[in-house]
Amino acid sequence: MKLTGKLLDDSLPVTVTVEDGRIAHVARETGATALGGPDVWIAPGFHDLQVNGYGGRDFNAGSWGLEASSADPVEELAALQRDLASHGTALFCPTVVTDAPEQMEANLRRIAAAVESNARFRTAVTGFHLEGPFISPEEGPRGAHPVEHIRLPDADLFDRFQDAAHGLIRMCTLAPEMPGALGLIEYLVENGVVAAIGHTGAGAASIRDAVAAGATVSTHIGNGCHASIPRHNSYIWEQLACDELIATLIADGHHIEPAEARVMVRAKRPQAVALISDAVRLAGMPPGLYADGRFEVKADGHIVLTGTPYLAGASALLDTCIVNAWRWTDMDLAQAVACATETPARALRMDRKGRIAVGCDADLTLFRVREDDLMEIVMTVVGGERADG
Ligand SMILES: [Zn+2]
Repeated sequence: MKLTGKLLDDSLPVTVTVEDGRIAHVARETGATALGGPDVWIAPGFHDLQVNGYGGRDFNAGSWGLEASSADPVEELAALQRDLASHGTALFCPTVVTDAPEQMEANLRRIAAAVESNARFRTAVTGFHLEGPFISPEEGPRGAHPVEHIRLPDADLFDRFQDAAHGLIRMCTLAPEMPGALGLIEYLVENGVVAAIGHTGAGAASIRDAVAAGATVSTHIGNGCHASIPRHNSYIWEQLACDELIATLIADGHHIEPAEARVMVRAKRPQAVALISDAVRLAGMPPGLYADGRFEVKADGHIVLTGTPYLAGASALLDTCIVNAWRWTDMDLAQAVACATETPARALRMDRKGRIAVGCDADLTLFRVREDDLMEIVMTVVGGERADG
């Protein structure tokens, strides 16, 4: 397979040759026409570190007692992957959130079996993100996670989850102020799992201790936190100030407002920001009422608790978040795309992903940005194969 598009670094066309799932050759071709037209960019495949579900499908389906949980998990994952790829997302981390341990194990087991059934899933899924149950039980920091299922950090319980996941958990979000958290962070790092700080009410000192213990990511900074935060000793300031932490950001305009995104990107610098969707199952669904009327998908795609302004999950995928981050911050398009390609790969320490270079994995997204600022996906390639549609 040969694909031509403009490189974001210098706006010049290149032709990328793909062989056996890898990038075999990258050639400058003056006068070459990009696939789909001269305005098409070729980028590493968009990589989303946090996806709960999309288009009516949910990695935590069993937790909600949805009929989906009885559907064929392989077909579900195939449909979900196709939907994500049609929005440019080539790589993603299915995210399992706080529930009773047995239910979390069942959810992890179900996704792991589906992922292992197919080579393309094994490429597209770069690991599972375990978000909870080792988080803060406080109102605000815990967000929508059910308080009764929050647990103290516990390596044995983590091992149960990792066994259920067939070793596929690659990132774990936890609150560092909880007793035992620092020991668990060290344990995660020793076992090749990225320790992420999130859903936390920690003081600044606990954040610094977590970083000393090996935490390297801040999960959706600015979300899953108190409505009011003291001006000193704040977990947000401390994480923004800490150069060792890559911060993930939901740049959908609802979870984070444009000014917050601008300030956060300036504080972290573009290379330490990873854009995530945190998309949920109602994302991508037509407007209307769902779950016996408890949730409403608005005409603009917002998902709210019916009759309230409260968000009930994120709906914008990386194609939208990249353009938002580009428009709202000082970043140029190349930097905004790197926040969804190079940085997530660095966060997971995957050095063959997130770059267009010989020997790297052939995960690619070709796209254009229309005059109305909508990103149009031309093609998404996963492991050397076309994955959209
Ligand atoms: Zn969260």
